[in-house]
Amino acid sequence: MGRAFVYVILGGGVAAGYAALEFTRRGVSHGELCIISEESVAPYERPALSKGFLLPEDRASLPSFHTCVGANEERLTPKWYKEHGIELVLGTRVKSADVRRKTLLTAAGETISYKILIVATGARALKLEEFGVSGSDAENVCYLRDLADANRLVDVMQSCPGGDAVVIGGGYIGMECAASLVINKINVTMVFPEEHCMARLFTPKIASYYEDYYQSKGVKFIKGTVLSSFNIDSSGKVTAVNLRDGSELPADMVVVGIGIRPNTSLFEGQLTLEKGGIKVNGKLQSSNSYVYAVGDVAAFPVKLFGETRRLEHVDSARKSARHAVDAIMEPEKTGEFDYLPFFYSRVFTMSWQFYGDAAGEVVHYGDFSGGRFGAYWVSKGHLIGSFLEGGTKEEYEAIAKATRLKPAIEDVGELERQGLSFALTV
Ligand code: FAD
Repeated sequence: MGRAFVYVILGGGVAAGYAALEFTRRGVSHGELCIISEESVAPYERPALSKGFLLPEDRASLPSFHTCVGANEERLTPKWYKEHGIELVLGTRVKSADVRRKTLLTAAGETISYKILIVATGARALKLEEFGVSGSDAENVCYLRDLADANRLVDVMQSCPGGDAVVIGGGYIGMECAASLVINKINVTMVFPEEHCMARLFTPKIASYYEDYYQSKGVKFIKGTVLSSFNIDSSGKVTAVNLRDGSELPADMVVVGIGIRPNTSLFEGQLTLEKGGIKVNGKLQSSNSYVYAVGDVAAFPVKLFGETRRLEHVDSARKSARHAVDAIMEPEKTGEFDYLPFFYSRVFTMSWQFYGDAAGEVVHYGDFSGGRFGAYWVSKGHLIGSFLEGGTKEEYEAIAKATRLKPAIEDVGELERQGLSFALTV
């Protein structure tokens, strides 16, 4: 039993939605394209799950955040896919792939064959068990990667109004969930092993601004230690979190955000992997020329830095997906993917954007007490990274442009004095 398509997108997340839109713009025919997704809903803007979806009032819900609303584009509802003759195979896990035969086998036993495959399987949340701690399946321990997780998080949160939450991990998920929990009037303690939050990107000075703000909202930080075990009652609920430093925190719920791992397992031994992802060239094409990889699962050459990177951010998923479709549909006209890494986050009323690479010497600027500040990263005499909190659209565009230009910086002190005006005038 089986079906055959010209193009198959494996995975139905952010990248799949943007790829589908691009396919229709490039003129795909009815019945040629299929999207297979383990999730039971059409592609949606995943970042909404830790933001609007968790709000106590005017909660965002589907269909409002289907892709591609996050980039101010059309909202692709199930009806849209139908009208465009795109087959959505939802609630279906692919359990094996054979790139030599160009087939995928679903958990339900169907073989789906393709001429060209786009792998957009994203990533999964790392589990505590992978760090030697058990208890992930307790009733009130939450992860956050997909809609089912987000629905569960809301249920658990609503089951303990005014209760205590312990958030494990100080990265994106931890920070955004902590803010949402506070807005839902839950008491939050954050626990992470690093010296400050968002350790991979923030400098100590930037981190202390956000940590102070969170503390003003009642969030407690316990840094430099990790979870060692849970106290679990007879009903299967965590009642307390034990830390390696010996302390015990009472808990009505736990949210775990300790990183992700790209979903590459279907292709191990079949495609070349690098940096934990599927290695692709500047056309997002893997070591098998009929297989492309995009989004969180792809390790692609970032021209600007002259090296291969795997990025775990929504903008990269959207743009790599589009580029792959362009390369598939118009190979002669499509050049190498030339991507400027871009990350953002929104918490409480704050909002920041970052472009480029957080490496080298850091220069801070602006008003850290007034909530309008930023930083530049300078490496080998060139500006390579820019961060800004509380900017306007024009200011964010200016730091993006400045970072892409990689201007030479002769005097770091002068860059510090000029601050944001440097980007606005470069
Ligand atoms: P995904 O969107 O994860 O999609 C992968 C899809 O593949 C899923 O539907 C999955 O079910 C499916 N799949 C996987 N394996 C199989 C299989 N074997 N068979 C069938 N289907 C399969 N980034 C930012 O830049 N800013 C933010 O503010 C931000 N907020 C975020 C908040 C949350 C809660 C999360 C989880 C992520 C956030 N991100 C953010 C990251 C961003 O959402 C991801 O980078 C983006 O979703 C990656 O897109 P993708 O299509 O590669 O993967």
